[in-house]
Amino acid sequence: MVTLTIDGKNITVRKLSTVLDAAKKLDIQIPTLCHHPELSPFGGCRLCLVEVKNIARPVTACTTLVKDGMQVTTTSPYLEKLRKTTLELLLSDHPNDCMLCERAGDCTLQELAYFYGIRENRFAGEKRPFIKKDENPVIERGMEKCILCGQCVRVCDEIEGVGAVDFAYKGFRTIVSTPYEKDLDCEFCGQCVAVCPTGALTGKMWAHKGRQKYVNQVDTICPYCGCGCNLTLHVRQNEIIRVTSKEDTVNEGWLCAKGRFGYGFINNPDRLKKPLIRIAPKTLDKRTTNKPKKFSSIFREVTWEEALHYVAKKLKEIKKKYGADSIGGLSSARCTNEENYLFQKFMRAVIGTNNVDHCARY
Ligand code: SF4
Ligand code: SF4
Ligand code: SF4
Repeated sequence: MVTLTIDGKNITVRKLSTVLDAAKKLDIQIPTLCHHPELSPFGGCRLCLVEVKNIARPVTACTTLVKDGMQVTTTSPYLEKLRKTTLELLLSDHPNDCMLCERAGDCTLQELAYFYGIRENRFAGEKRPFIKKDENPVIERGMEKCILCGQCVRVCDEIEGVGAVDFAYKGFRTIVSTPYEKDLDCEFCGQCVAVCPTGALTGKMWAHKGRQKYVNQVDTICPYCGCGCNLTLHVRQNEIIRVTSKEDTVNEGWLCAKGRFGYGFINNPDRLKKPLIRIAPKTLDKRTTNKPKKFSSIFREVTWEEALHYVAKKLKEIKKKYGADSIGGLSSARCTNEENYLFQKFMRAVIGTNNVDHCARY
């Protein structure tokens, strides 16, 4: 363990902690744009500069390891001036599109610009235009708003193991790009969207659906598979307009493409909300096909009571005529453990067969 002093307060932390980790333990806020606790340190945005006694120049808190007896200062007029100037430089080629930007109100860059009172752009100059072209239905890349924090590059490589994007070119021309600047073609997990501190990466489905202030957040569990990732639904006027996940959950805020973007079915008017019973079609053209001519007439909406009675009656008939082993049951990863347990119990104890399986069996 290592003991150091930050802003006059003593703290003891593990040996390989960074100054930023140690400051967090003391509840001392140091601004960052490129840092993420689950990703490798980058030291790119230069906002977390701190002063360390006996070191001539400020150092980045996110990449500097703690040392015994270290004396750190995280805020001073000099450091705040440095941070403000760094932010001004980051904003020097920024489109400042907050009025229309999907991230406004939920943007770390905007928040810091507000905190440091940056209205005028002392370094305004050349911009880096980006022509949107991605055809995918879920991720919008507006790279003119990119501040090159590299979080998307690292999350795609270190967490997702895909490496679909990386830095390209040099100096002012540097961009985060797909190979050969082609359309994004990847897992579409959206982890990069989740970590981006600006409006450079957003969800296409969120566009013009509502600002954060009009949105209620509801925590729930993903309905797609048995992993049970935690979701936060962003709900506006009873419609889910966005899905995120919090870092302090079992899945640490990471989701797959289905969990993050596959929520359209919830408000889809075609979604089945009541049981349907298939009824024998009256009109069959037996000479050419067994399919009914009028598909719309083959389902009847019923109550759950009627549907369950119908299923029980049919199962009894089949069992009586062909035996219990003529019936098989296939359960779903969308069910809870308890529901899957009940299902196999039902198949074995009620139907009387061991023909039971599960869609996620390895
Ligand atoms: S990315 Fe942030 S700072 Fe830039 S336009 Fe969007 S909300 Fe404003
Ligand atoms: S969506 Fe996922 S796979 Fe695609 S670039 Fe982003 S992090 Fe990488
Ligand atoms: S797209 Fe977003 S996450 Fe990626 S480097 Fe740019 S600002 Fe950072």
